[in-house]
Amino acid sequence: MAKGLLIVVSAPSGCGKGTILGEVLKDPAYYYSVSATTRAPREGEQDGVQYHFLTREQFEQNIADQMMLEYAEYCGNYYGTPLAPINANLENGRNVILEIEVQGAMQVRKLRPDAVFVFIAPPSVDTLRERLIGRGTETMEVIEERVAQAQHELSFAQQYDYIVVNDVLEDAIADFKAIVRAESCKTARD
Ligand code: 5GP
Repeated sequence: MAKGLLIVVSAPSGCGKGTILGEVLKDPAYYYSVSATTRAPREGEQDGVQYHFLTREQFEQNIADQMMLEYAEYCGNYYGTPLAPINANLENGRNVILEIEVQGAMQVRKLRPDAVFVFIAPPSVDTLRERLIGRGTETMEVIEERVAQAQHELSFAQQYDYIVVNDVLEDAIADFKAIVRAESCKTARD
């Protein structure tokens, strides 16, 4: 059986990344890597579904035990990718999606030359701010912090293999699926 693809996806928050990936992940050929984080759960988030919610002590122990493929600090919290499920799913032929921010993605770039890197960008920074306000899950202070963070992250977009601009959602989903399809047909991987 052909191995699955390791797909690293980054996007500033509010880019519609969750909606695009939600659609893609309806296909059982994909495995979504559930990250660990020290941030507090948002309303409706469940431990083990969106994230494994850990204390800083637990997270630092996981780092010490080398259980993370990569990790980063983002807006004051740790986020990291548990290593164990990734190779198992790739071997089983599933495409593994890592939804991580740019520092983590750059670590994976060095560790896993076989991975495909996709950056999802908003049509503009103003659109991003409006979407974050519309989501209503963060205070204005946090939103402005995230917008500034987004501008920083956008400067890394050129280091990814592909950029998907999420203007019209259906087009962005189609672009993402087309990238994976083409990558699956590649003759050789690094
Ligand atoms: P949020 O708090 O909005 O769920 O996520 C904040 C940021 O952390 C997002 O850019 C998200 O992609 C990133 N992130 C989530 N999980 C991981 C991870 O395992 N590693 C890294 N490096 N970033 C992550």
